[in-house]
Amino acid sequence: MATGTLSIDLDALVQNWRSLAALGDAETGAVVKADGYGLGAAKVARALAKAGVRRFFVAVAEEGAALREALGPGPEINVFSGHMSGDTDMIGDMTLTPMINNVDQLLRHVEALPGAPFGIQLDSGMNRLGMEPVEWGAVRDIALAQNPTLIMSHLACADEPNHDMNRQQLAQFAEMTAGVDAPRSLAATGGILLGNDYHFDVTRPGIGLYGGLPFDLATPVVRLTLPMIQTRDLEPGETVGYGNTWTAEVPSRIATVAGGYADGLLRALSHTGQLWFGDTPCPILGRVSMDLIGVDITHLSEVPNALDILGAKQKVDDLAAAAGTIGYEILTSLGPRYARRYVGG
Ligand SMILES: *Cc1c(COP(=O)(O)O)cnc(C)c1O
Repeated sequence: MATGTLSIDLDALVQNWRSLAALGDAETGAVVKADGYGLGAAKVARALAKAGVRRFFVAVAEEGAALREALGPGPEINVFSGHMSGDTDMIGDMTLTPMINNVDQLLRHVEALPGAPFGIQLDSGMNRLGMEPVEWGAVRDIALAQNPTLIMSHLACADEPNHDMNRQQLAQFAEMTAGVDAPRSLAATGGILLGNDYHFDVTRPGIGLYGGLPFDLATPVVRLTLPMIQTRDLEPGETVGYGNTWTAEVPSRIATVAGGYADGLLRALSHTGQLWFGDTPCPILGRVSMDLIGVDITHLSEVPNALDILGAKQKVDDLAAAAGTIGYEILTSLGPRYARRYVGG
């Protein structure tokens, strides 16, 4: 038995891509790293390619190789970690486009795969990946002479529209790329929402495609339903779960559902999270176990077969807030034990 059923609405995903694309004139790519934010990179990317996406982005070359097998030739597959030692065969054989992060990677790439496509990643202030201004100044002319497919940078604070860092990074990126003919890219989901100044030629949304903040107009993409295994009626004074951390004060009906922290339903949801029976919330009682969660259904007039933990009533960011984290972590933690059902696409 699967612990739960994870429904992934590929039509909603495509709709989110179209909505983000409609916010400006730039070409809109798609970030499908970490197995398409946990939702299945092959399925997600095929649906997006069918809708018109021509540039995909992944974190590492192995993800790019798997994506190439799923997509076939044609779409550009860009690798944020660039050209790492050991990646050469994969980059060459699978026609991946590394986003070159420093001079070492640039030399490795042009020596091992002369004439093979590449992009450049610049550090406009996040201090994570990419060439800093001085390094870029030293190799800029040599790199541009090889016709990079993309010149990109990444914003550190795009989910805070009023943060000074956004303007600073925009100015830094504009300065570093002044006079460049190659397509330029600065915005992920948050950057798209900052407005046209941030879009340049290509945008790189990830989380917004999957229904997460900061794209608050996103259509929900995932529904996660956990089957009920058992119910029991408790007398006042009885306790639930590891550590006896919840005690019934009144006669209570408890449902035990399949799914736990091994499935990415974080232990931090203990006592704070809730599941849903239609429009009715049902609080989590006691600690979340590895494979099981106890839920209060005392107030329900019927015994449910299953309860939703993600869906229209509780989106990924709602569940994230209950666990003290972000939607990105909820999605990428979704475990392998669910039965996955793809709708549309
Ligand atoms: C993950 C990532 C993205 C996508 O970011 P979202 O916030 O999910 O839209 C874009 N660019 C880079 C460099 C990334 O690492």
